[in-house]
Amino acid sequence: MSADSGAGHSPAGQEQTAPVVIAGGGPVGLMLAIELCLGGVTPIVLERLPEISDIPKGNGLVGQIVPVLDYRGLLDRLRAGSTYTGPVPGFSFGPLRLEFSGESPLQILAVPQRRLEHVLAARLAELGGSIRRGHELTEFSQDDEAVTVSVTGPAGDYLLTTRYLVGCDGAHSQVRKQAGIGFPGFTAPEVSLIGRVTLPDAVLLAGSGEAELPGLGRIQLTQQVRTPRGMYSLAPLTSLDATAPKGTYIVYTREDADPPANIAGAPDGRRLSDREPPVTLAELQASFRRVTGADVRMTDPTWLTRTVGNSRQADRYLEGRVLLAGDAAHVFGLALNAGLLDAVNLGWKLAAQVRGWAPAGLLASYHTERHAAGRRGLLHTRAQRALTGGDEITEAIRDLLGELLTVPGVARHLGELIAGTDIRYDMPGSEAGRHPLTGRLAPDLRLAATDRSRTRIAELMRAAGPLLLDFTLDGRVAPEAAGWQERVPAMVVKQLDGPPAADALLIRPDGYVAWATGPGAADPAAGLRESLTAWCGTSAASQRTSGNAAPRHDPPV
Ligand SMILES: Cc1cc2nc3c(=O)[nH]c(=O)nc-3n(C[C@H](O)[C@H](O)[C@H](O)COP(=O)(O)OP(=O)(O)OC[C@H]3O[C@@H](n4cnc5c(N)ncnc54)[C@H](O)[C@@H]3O)c2cc1C
Repeated sequence: MSADSGAGHSPAGQEQTAPVVIAGGGPVGLMLAIELCLGGVTPIVLERLPEISDIPKGNGLVGQIVPVLDYRGLLDRLRAGSTYTGPVPGFSFGPLRLEFSGESPLQILAVPQRRLEHVLAARLAELGGSIRRGHELTEFSQDDEAVTVSVTGPAGDYLLTTRYLVGCDGAHSQVRKQAGIGFPGFTAPEVSLIGRVTLPDAVLLAGSGEAELPGLGRIQLTQQVRTPRGMYSLAPLTSLDATAPKGTYIVYTREDADPPANIAGAPDGRRLSDREPPVTLAELQASFRRVTGADVRMTDPTWLTRTVGNSRQADRYLEGRVLLAGDAAHVFGLALNAGLLDAVNLGWKLAAQVRGWAPAGLLASYHTERHAAGRRGLLHTRAQRALTGGDEITEAIRDLLGELLTVPGVARHLGELIAGTDIRYDMPGSEAGRHPLTGRLAPDLRLAATDRSRTRIAELMRAAGPLLLDFTLDGRVAPEAAGWQERVPAMVVKQLDGPPAADALLIRPDGYVAWATGPGAADPAAGLRESLTAWCGTSAASQRTSGNAAPRHDPPV
């Protein structure tokens, strides 16, 4: 098998090779492909759809992925088409409202998923990567050496041989199923309806986040509202998609009791699933009437669908040479934040593995770090769901949590949970756990270099490599990393804003702080070498003494 770091290009019908094959060219597969290209590995991306789907899915990104996209130079491109980007003063928590005081813990990027996928595909093309659209993974087999992937493409069936297969193939992941990885959790019994419709009689109340509807009065927009018969929400599409026509809204309903079978049920009395079209405008309107008691006029539907709430997580994200990321690994609300962060966490580790410099355990740390993050996602989305029930016990819990939310710090705690910023990766090294930045996303500090040029951590991270920042006045720390200089650039810098964060920071390619020391530490380099070895492999000097100067391939996972 080829040990190079680029994809082979023999025509369909013949066997092909690539160091990594990604099944699924949705947002997570695209992001992973970008990260691999930045790490020097060009994957083959298989996407069964011939083009990016027009079906409206996500309306935006919420949480830690927003600054991380800035750390890849993608935020400005996405901001261009966004109706809102930045920190938010409040956010919904099921039917409750989180109001943040002080600095907001939650950033959002309102961007339609379709546009996100176009921007990511364009970035991938810039990096020399491409997507095989209309190519479907049908099955695969793996052994100790390789994975063989069967593909059906427009010109027929063919085989691919690869060292690693990553399933980014969505919630119904074929890769996950065939790898025998369990997907425990639950599918909620209720069916929700979602529609994109015009509400001709709705009047938006400027600046209030409210609208007035005949029969319904003033209602809060975006926020899910609990009524005695179910849940609903209304959001003006223009708040999510700048290109949407005025007067169009996303309408959501979920009923506590079963909707009448002749409206929302299948003829045989079964419940209709999200996969059985069509939903009619009359169905959505009737459901809205039952939930709210108001007869609101809806016209001109552009999209109508049923959804069921899924809350599941794969047992493991790694099985031999097969990995999972995104919805293939976990499904819950607002899962794009977690899915794209999976891709950024995995990309550099897999590239290091393929290129032969990964320290032992690096790839396995993907499962450890991101499976734990996925569990936090399940925690808050399940808790939010539990708050939406219509019974008296749920009402008591809702009221009590509503009271607790007025206690300082509680809304912030939940905001950080939603954002994923409460996660702190466990970092080896003698400083691990001591410095408050260790294990967290590096803050976007403004910096001045010794040549007086000014930069930000976000700009330095766009190379997607590890980085050592030495803030000591005499640049004492940087020479300690001399053995890693080919892989880990070291910069002596001055922090321009705020109180000094540290004497030195070692930042992983995904932007997380692997090691930090100071300010004012007696030995500012203590633990640095241990951390460099754990995340960046052995130093050039130790490779020479062990006679192992050539890159190793496939160190132990
Ligand atoms: C109505 C709706 C609204 C949503 N709103 C939000 C939101 O506002 N915010 C948010 O964070 N999340 C939202 N989500 C969830 C979000 O859309 C998903 O989390 C996201 O799409 C997951 O991305 P992914 O790349 O992991 O999977 P997907 O987007 O499902 O992409 C998987 C890709 O794999 C391809 N594929 C599947 N099988 C194969 C195969 N065998 N071979 C080749 N290709 C294959 C598919 O065609 C697809 O393109 C919403 C979802 C829905 C349905």
